[in-house]
Amino acid sequence: MSYHFNTKAIRIQTPTTDEMEHSTPLFLTSSFRFDNAEDMSGAFNETNDHNIYTRFSNPTVQEFTDKMVALEGAEAGFSCASGMAAIFGTMMTFLQSGDHILSCASVFGSTHTLLTKYFPKWGIEYSYGNVGEEDKWEELIKPNTKMIYLETPTNPGLDIVDMEKVNKLAKKHNILFVVDNCFATPALQRPIEFGADLVIHSATKWIDGQGRVLGGVVVGKKEMIREIYLFCRNTGPSMSPFNAWVLTKSLETLDVRMQRHCDNAEALAKRLEGHPKLSMVKYPMLPSHPSYEIAKKQMSRGGGLFTFEIKGGLESGVKFMNSLKLLTLTSNLGDSRTIASHPASTTHSKLSAADQLAVGITPGLIRMSVGLEYVDDLANDILQALEQC
Ligand SMILES: *Cc1c(COP(=O)(O)O)cnc(C)c1O
Repeated sequence: MSYHFNTKAIRIQTPTTDEMEHSTPLFLTSSFRFDNAEDMSGAFNETNDHNIYTRFSNPTVQEFTDKMVALEGAEAGFSCASGMAAIFGTMMTFLQSGDHILSCASVFGSTHTLLTKYFPKWGIEYSYGNVGEEDKWEELIKPNTKMIYLETPTNPGLDIVDMEKVNKLAKKHNILFVVDNCFATPALQRPIEFGADLVIHSATKWIDGQGRVLGGVVVGKKEMIREIYLFCRNTGPSMSPFNAWVLTKSLETLDVRMQRHCDNAEALAKRLEGHPKLSMVKYPMLPSHPSYEIAKKQMSRGGGLFTFEIKGGLESGVKFMNSLKLLTLTSNLGDSRTIASHPASTTHSKLSAADQLAVGITPGLIRMSVGLEYVDDLANDILQALEQC
């Protein structure tokens, strides 16, 4: 019997123990024992698949990984302590001194720091391709380009990268194609269907969805995951079984949560579009989004994030944030609680105005990570805060 991936996200489970538990157990153990020396020897020589040590493998972590593999339509996966651990582990497995990586220009802050601050130190070059100009990315490919890396929708601009176009380029030049699918989750977008070799997540965001634990995962082709596994088992960024247990339970509700996040975000974006205090509202599934057609091609729905630009710039942005009564000011996203952020005065305040603009940040830009609260309460809080601006 073959099940839909949403059923698998609920029903994939470690084999039932003698206790006959219904919900999944937590294997909070750092190592595993053997009946005899032959079994132990076999585990180390990989002639059997017994667990050895939780840095290498753990049943609870494997359960979470197996669900992510099923959801993304991948062959295999490896889970890491955080999204950054998964990104770093993946890049370090496949890149070495003398290589070049082509990345979309607006990537998550720490990924940007990795590319711009640390990679040059290790002799790895990078180029940034502008989102919306994927036709020009071929000019950025060099003989030593080993990886094309992108996020879509992007943070915080919510721009859409055309994965079909980028995949054609990657295949033509025989380059590894990697997508950070954190913003959409497999409930809304599956990059492997568009040719991605590897898909990475920060499970800290929508996958946990309740702001509790950090986690990351990379899924994709079996032989590539094997390389990542070997690198990570020796360098140590593995996921904690406790976090895996929290995250595997979260996956049971991923689809229903994402549908409600999308309902709320879409309703708020529609309601705010045309508001006299705003010069722009951006949501991938609004026809006014510059890449609406591409979004429709690769996403089933628009996701839980939307942005708007308050007239009056930086000052109005700060005033709006200070006027919120219900919404939270916190540097996370993908929570059951709605979160507002003002990139120009916080996460991106150190960038020059020109550099901010290059990644889609204007002075009055507000990014909303829409939660699961009753939508009218959210709308009322946003509207009363806009009155103060
Ligand atoms: C948060 C985030 C990351 C990093 O994940 P952590 O779990 O915080 O390490 C990577 N990519 C995107 C798009 C993110 O939002």
